Amino acid sequence: MRVVGTSASDLALAADILRSGGLVAIPTETVYGLAGNVWEPKTLARIFEAKNRPQFDPLIVHVANPDNADEVADLSLPHARQLAEALWPGPLTMVLPRKPRVPDLATSGLSTVGVRCPSHPVARRIIELAGVPLAAPSANPFGYLSPTRAEHVANQLGERVDLIVDGGPCTIGVESTVLDLSESPALVLRPGAVSMEQLALLLPSVQLFDRSTQSPRAPGQLPSHYAPRLPLHLRASGTLPSARPNAMAVALCFGAASYKNITASGKFSRVVDLSARADPVDAAAVLFSVLHELDTGSWSELWAERLPDCGIGRAVNDRLYKASVKD
Ligand code: AMP
Ligand code: MG
Repeated sequence: MRVVGTSASDLALAADILRSGGLVAIPTETVYGLAGNVWEPKTLARIFEAKNRPQFDPLIVHVANPDNADEVADLSLPHARQLAEALWPGPLTMVLPRKPRVPDLATSGLSTVGVRCPSHPVARRIIELAGVPLAAPSANPFGYLSPTRAEHVANQLGERVDLIVDGGPCTIGVESTVLDLSESPALVLRPGAVSMEQLALLLPSVQLFDRSTQSPRAPGQLPSHYAPRLPLHLRASGTLPSARPNAMAVALCFGAASYKNITASGKFSRVVDLSARADPVDAAAVLFSVLHELDTGSWSELWAERLPDCGIGRAVNDRLYKASVKD
């Protein structure tokens, strides 16, 4: 597998490979995506194979400009165009009725398709140069931690990808918000950087998928996902000093005060603060790279405290919860 930067010739090479049916890992503002031409079922099959992803887990289709979303989805549902105008390009995936031309493999045979216009300039340029919408799930093996750096992709997928475009670390660091507009009221299937609070200002009503009362629509919502190999125990904010960790356990905390208390308890071999100034945006940005690093170390287990359940903090809590559940 070859790793390139983001020069004009690098991006032209990425587009060539995509046009000829290859797989290219591309940076986006959320996480790295494993991209392929959405119109080529053979390429889509390679994406599933490379990730070891079950074919019942639909792919998100990425477009270079909001106007191109019509090629794959029907945006005539109430509020779809207003949301696209307000939040695209950006970290929002809308689940909308699919256009008949979209291959079944991309949607797992569903009548809907997940579509997003990312804001990362490199991602947009590559899609534009390729001249086709790109199906791009996260560039990681199914169920494992999402990649937020090019080296995460190289370490996890290696030769299964034809090219990696290294655009540096992803700024947001957690996957897109998935909003199902085919449901009424609109349903957030996966929390992300576009928050419930933001969506509530733009929609008459919106609900967060509730795993305790609703059955999953797609595997991104399965309880165990985005998981490190190490066991992870998730606890309420401020309660880690009362935990009973094994030897060589690591605590993941949120904020300088918490860091001080946990360190003073003397129970953990290492304490990692996701944000000294207790900003959930910072915590999201570093979450997956911290987990990747810890997961390759010689630690026995991870203990994490929840963030306040608002804004992007909900997305961080969701990923920590899914990392804490073993099937
Ligand atoms: P990933 O591409 O790895 O970020 O995962 C994409 C996730 O988006 C899936 O696991 C689903 O949870 C969600 N998704 C994509 N398309 C649909 C769809 N048509 N209906 C429901 N959820 C979808
Ligand atoms: Mg994924």
